[in-house]
Amino acid sequence: MLSAVLLPAALGFLFGAFIGSFLNVCIHRLPRNESVVLPPSRCYSCGTQVQWYDNLPVISYLILRGRCRWCDAPFSIRYLLLEVSVGALSALVMWWAFSDPTAPAPWLLALGVSDGVARALAAAVILALAYLLVVSSFIDLEHSIIPDELTKPFQLAAPLLALGSGSVLGHHLLFDPSAWLLQRNILGAVVPTTATFVWSVLAVVAGVLLFLVLSLPLAKVIYGRFCPPEQRWRDEDHQGFRVGVLWFMAATGVSTAALLALVWWQPGGDDGGWWRMCAGHGALALFGSLVGWLSLYVVGLVGTIAFRRNAMGFGDVKFLAPIGAFLGPIGVLYAFFFAAMVGTVVGLPMRLLASQREIPFGPWLAVGAILALLWGPELHAWLFSQI
Ligand SMILES: [Zn+2]
Repeated sequence: MLSAVLLPAALGFLFGAFIGSFLNVCIHRLPRNESVVLPPSRCYSCGTQVQWYDNLPVISYLILRGRCRWCDAPFSIRYLLLEVSVGALSALVMWWAFSDPTAPAPWLLALGVSDGVARALAAAVILALAYLLVVSSFIDLEHSIIPDELTKPFQLAAPLLALGSGSVLGHHLLFDPSAWLLQRNILGAVVPTTATFVWSVLAVVAGVLLFLVLSLPLAKVIYGRFCPPEQRWRDEDHQGFRVGVLWFMAATGVSTAALLALVWWQPGGDDGGWWRMCAGHGALALFGSLVGWLSLYVVGLVGTIAFRRNAMGFGDVKFLAPIGAFLGPIGVLYAFFFAAMVGTVVGLPMRLLASQREIPFGPWLAVGAILALLWGPELHAWLFSQI
């Protein structure tokens, strides 16, 4: 039984170390608008192309002692650290996917997909999320920006990808496992009829989108008036903000349409069961994305008025929405909570001791998301058992 978890974890480390090597390239080249595929890696000092046998993760770095084989120029320790930590992160995700009861998507199991395949799929989508978090975090650390090229497509894809793993349901299963996991009809456990489900989803989505539209002129006033002059938004800032909000609204529209199409189509008939589970799962992913966006967005608006300085990085808002799709509306709040905790406990002393510049919030959000994924449901269960 243990080997059924250890083997995937070991494979995860090996795979992750190779991916970590590739993510190094992404982190260096994406913010510079360079291709991540071509040209092949070169020594930044002498320009010699790095051969495959010098490009093996971890091992090559140790054999060459972190130096170029030809000109002896030192390579950044970040290469080694990233290969090891992405390997470890991948091993952790694989361990989670092959041991956690909430990892496989219940609708896939109801569809007749085997437990092993459903867990492998859960591992694949969560690894995709984890790698996005790593790349975004390191770019954010270096350049204090999370590129739109990463967050925008991911906002669109996240609610769909999230269907591949049960992580969205992790926190919800705890309310009443019998109603969520064991009952065939997830949707029926929450809302009694298909029509009620459709109207509930439409009402929530329409309400949030209306709020976002109405908030645009409000944000213009707040970020124009309440910030100190050097932080005050210029016209192109407002323009970029508007485009970002509209993009999220469009992405939300796409996943809402897909969700309602599934409910309307009802593949396999009304007693098919799996599509109801899939629709309930999809609705939680959609709501998670909305809560992820709204939580930081509203904190930013209110905080800017309260503290009279720009309290929101808009990149973080765009970043937390796709995280929310994978964690659901409750899980994403834990991610936010963990991010604030870790950011305070680790980040504040780092700033004071090393007198570093302000550390961006993106990396803490990524750490919070991983913590909420792996241990959020346990914390949630513990909190609710105390009440
Ligand atoms: Zn060299």
